Amino acid sequence: MPARTPSSPTTGLPGGEFGLIEWIRQRTGSHPLVDVGIGDDAAMLSWPTTHPALVAVDMLVENVHFDLSRAKPEQVGHKALAVNLSDIAAMGGQPLAAVVSVALPRGSQHDLGQRLHDGLITLAEQTGVALAGGDTTATDGPLVVSVTVIGTPLEGGPILRSGARPGDRLLVTGYLGNSRERHHLDFTPRLAESVGLVESGGLHAMIDISDGLAADLHHVLTASGVGARLNASDIPTREPDTPVRDGRTPLAHAVADGEDFELLAAVDPRVAEELVAAPPCGTPLSDIGEIVPGSGVELVMPNGHIVPLPPLGYEHRID
Ligand SMILES: [Mg+2]
Repeated sequence: MPARTPSSPTTGLPGGEFGLIEWIRQRTGSHPLVDVGIGDDAAMLSWPTTHPALVAVDMLVENVHFDLSRAKPEQVGHKALAVNLSDIAAMGGQPLAAVVSVALPRGSQHDLGQRLHDGLITLAEQTGVALAGGDTTATDGPLVVSVTVIGTPLEGGPILRSGARPGDRLLVTGYLGNSRERHHLDFTPRLAESVGLVESGGLHAMIDISDGLAADLHHVLTASGVGARLNASDIPTREPDTPVRDGRTPLAHAVADGEDFELLAAVDPRVAEELVAAPPCGTPLSDIGEIVPGSGVELVMPNGHIVPLPPLGYEHRID
């Protein structure tokens, strides 16, 4: 690990760009998929399957996607990888390798780059993903981190947004409306749950909930050319004891808030019943409604009233 060395005159990074890259190389270690890793001009991977590659990329920008006065650098690194793993999970895929680009603000704390990569590498290790390479630069702007993940579809995948059909049940993993409780920084991507859903054999369409239940459901409906009817009382809201400080109900949060990173799946009705009765990996699965012919979303409120649910649920008060 490089000691406290002066900033490089060429990069403005403490210890210089090469000090950080060497630290990352040592912190990363070896991985069976990586034949040539960090330190050469390109990485070379031993691709373990004849299946095609899935590729996802996501960029996080300081003061747009996170605030370093509220988020630790390790959490930013974790999130930068986790959002991509969530996308691979949503495709019914297995992530295999990642590459990372980071623009570090000149004059930032000398360990910002290390702490960010530490959070990222810890999640990579937990999920078996190889950190195969990346790029580091200094910037006069905000911290920017962009992660690209390469994976492969599971047997039975990939699962697209366009496969939902009338009669399918809509299942969602976990609980919704939790992102305000810092869940969006610490969430566990639903990789194991994706495997269970794909292996059920009844999975027709899937998406991860990054923009909010209402918005992401509309993405599926538009791609599939169908509509949906949701039962408000079946939507898994935050734990009952969690306070709601802003006066909005748990249902309003669950429908409109982004960054829950749960999976929303359209599933054959018979298979859905089995999955809800015995979730394949312990995470609760809730049946929140049904795919119907047509377009748009109807939300059946607990009092029986039916209200339309637009893509941006928060535009209309539904509570
Ligand atoms: Mg997504």
